[in-house]
Amino acid sequence: MQALLLNGSRPNDPIAERAQAVAARPGKKICNRSSSANPTPSSKYFGATMRKIFLGVFILCVMTGCAAPTLISSPPPAAIEADYALTNATLIDGTGADPVSDAVLLVKGERIVAVGSAASLTVPAGVKSIDLQGATILPGFINAHVHFAFDEQKLETWAQGGVTTVRDEGIVSDLALEDLLALRDRTRSDSRIARLVSAGYMMTVPDGYGDLFVTSPEDARQKAVEELDAGVDLLKISLENGYAGQSGLPLLSDEEMAAIVTATHERGKPVSGHITQGAYLERMVKAGVDDVGHIPYDYINPDVLKAMVAKDIYFTPTFTVFRNYGAPISSCVSNLRQFLKLGGKVALGNDYGGGPGDFELGIPMYEIAQMSRAGMTPMQIITASTLNAAHVSNLEQELGSLVPGKIADILVVNGDPLTDLQALTQIRMVVHNGIIIRDENP
Ligand SMILES: [Zn+2]
Repeated sequence: MQALLLNGSRPNDPIAERAQAVAARPGKKICNRSSSANPTPSSKYFGATMRKIFLGVFILCVMTGCAAPTLISSPPPAAIEADYALTNATLIDGTGADPVSDAVLLVKGERIVAVGSAASLTVPAGVKSIDLQGATILPGFINAHVHFAFDEQKLETWAQGGVTTVRDEGIVSDLALEDLLALRDRTRSDSRIARLVSAGYMMTVPDGYGDLFVTSPEDARQKAVEELDAGVDLLKISLENGYAGQSGLPLLSDEEMAAIVTATHERGKPVSGHITQGAYLERMVKAGVDDVGHIPYDYINPDVLKAMVAKDIYFTPTFTVFRNYGAPISSCVSNLRQFLKLGGKVALGNDYGGGPGDFELGIPMYEIAQMSRAGMTPMQIITASTLNAAHVSNLEQELGSLVPGKIADILVVNGDPLTDLQALTQIRMVVHNGIIIRDENP
């Protein structure tokens, strides 16, 4: 694997070097402005995009006479600044790409600045190197379906357990929303505790399943806007007829759901949908939610699963809560298998606190075991737990994969989770916002 640097270039990339030389010339404001207007690097396509932009800048500069770049001699590649390096371990970047053996990952401040194999990326002189022989480096895990997460002690336990972000899928609290969101905001700066993403209150109709009631499409839109104005990260809606002894609960109308989804998407935020029965999946998919929480244990029409895949709607299965209710897990597993065969995407979430019984804080290994039963490979499970969970949390640009520019949330485990998923429980180090918050490296 070629090393990737924060500026999107590769070492000894002549085009990038020339462009850096152009951009570095004093008094050439147009060029500088053009070259600094780049988005945060966040994908494997970034290198190619950067090269196109640099070429564009070069051509613009030549046309406007603003620079006469020296093309004959290139300066040496810009030195990479880093605080420390993780080295001598296998790296799984969260995208599903092949693992990189003998990897080097450089961190500066809260960000990853370079990733590559030792053959392609040298640890800069003077930078502390942390030898992780025998370990695997992964993105910090994300549990994309929890409740009762507005609790610093729990958030610390999650972070120490390698889960550096949790998505609260419906507030259950008597505290005021602004106080809860103030705690959410503190989780963005306090690296001891897991980052918290909040879906606000689950939206439904009066006497329905949820905590925020809407009475018409207009009211649904207004309540959605109010929650978004208050600062929640996404919205959550339910279509729940009832379970665990309840039945016949009233439901949101298609118009009300559409009003909520439209208002939320207008703000660039996602909507998560709650169902437990296959019969309601079609309406949820038509409403255009971004992910569906809970994979039903009854019949699901395959055409609806196909529509989900076509619309890129993710499933967050939450086997743990079904187990705790005594539901037939094998049926959930076969529904997930069917979804996967159609090309469906999955995110990790266990519905912590969403029902009776025990839920794992830290990495939810029961979820992972059921994903494996449904036919997911260890690599697919890792992607579901990192990049896909970041996607449904609307944090894909910042988290979920180990690429330059993203926040350094990193889990290091002993052994190889690709051959034995139990390795995920053998935590050696946790990095959150670039800070090593758990260190059991010998
Ligand atoms: Zn839930």
